[in-house]
Amino acid sequence: MAVLADRYGRNFPYLRLSLLEACNFRCTYCLPDGYQANGKPRWLTRDEIGRLLHGFAAVGLRKLRLTGGEPSLRTDLTDIIAAAAATPGIETVAMTTNGILLRRHIERWRDAGLNAVNVSLDSLDPQRFHAITGHDRGLDILAGIDLALASGLRAVKLNAVLLRGLNDNEMPAWREYLRDRRTTLRFIELMQTGDNRDYFQRHHLRSDALEQSLLDDGWSLVPRAVDAGPAREYAHPDYLGRIGIIAPYSRDFCAGCNRLRVTATGDLRLCLFGDFGISLRPLLQSDADIGELTSVLHSQLGLKKAGHGLHEGNTGITPHLASIGG
Ligand code: SAM
Ligand code: SF4
Repeated sequence: MAVLADRYGRNFPYLRLSLLEACNFRCTYCLPDGYQANGKPRWLTRDEIGRLLHGFAAVGLRKLRLTGGEPSLRTDLTDIIAAAAATPGIETVAMTTNGILLRRHIERWRDAGLNAVNVSLDSLDPQRFHAITGHDRGLDILAGIDLALASGLRAVKLNAVLLRGLNDNEMPAWREYLRDRRTTLRFIELMQTGDNRDYFQRHHLRSDALEQSLLDDGWSLVPRAVDAGPAREYAHPDYLGRIGIIAPYSRDFCAGCNRLRVTATGDLRLCLFGDFGISLRPLLQSDADIGELTSVLHSQLGLKKAGHGLHEGNTGITPHLASIGG
């Protein structure tokens, strides 16, 4: 069967699947008032997820990322990981997490087939971490990250959203952290979403100056692998760890897009900041034909735009990234 491709010659071997919108953190840029349930949510069931993954795998899915909300709050997470890892065609099962249950469960997830984990850590300073996330769990999460690094996963990466005035002076501490840890810390430029416009104005910081300071300090840009994500990665001979920059406002950010998203209730989203999503859920029921799902995926790809409209302040239908699986 033909692999998914769009009008701009891009292929889509990568799916980010949100397992639920709920989260126990209150990150100031994402869910500052915490997750607010709207009625009784009906997240995709394990069976629906299984059918979804078989459909996507039939049209070229090789890498799956489980995200949310906070994916580790799903009580059936280990079973979902195992089902994903057993799906023919899927080579990598990754997850993005706030790390709250990392210490307790990383070995179980690894044994079920998890290959890689990205942990969000906006500050190494426990008090700042508390102020940004609403939870005083920084030290616990750092311990979980060290456990993950020792657990034999293919990759453990860290995500820190770059926030002007809140965490933009921690480079010396991060460098020490990375000296002997084989991980990549990715600084993500704050993105504007429907709900965070004022916050964005106050705290958005372009990463250009940070990148220049890395170059000045002897870090060098690592050549991009063909299937690399959007991060520009820097390495330094004195440090085991690397530093990545994810700059969604940079000129060519969308040119290498290779990913699709499915929300926790089964809507296909062609772009993080798209204007619409169509429900795949009716195509995931036990009597549904997988051929129908794959033909909808092919025809939807024809509608994918060349890039997002963030530069014009168009954040699409995304109120916050927890609603789509950032
Ligand atoms: N709860 C998990 C976590 O925090 O890792 C997974 C979902 S979270 C929405 C995924 C990633 O999006 C996190 O690394 C988070 O820091 C990032 N994120 C959320 N809102 C963002 C925003 N407005 N701009 C940039 N990154 C954002
Ligand atoms: Fe929760 Fe992740 Fe959003 Fe923080 S960034 S509130 S951990 S979904």
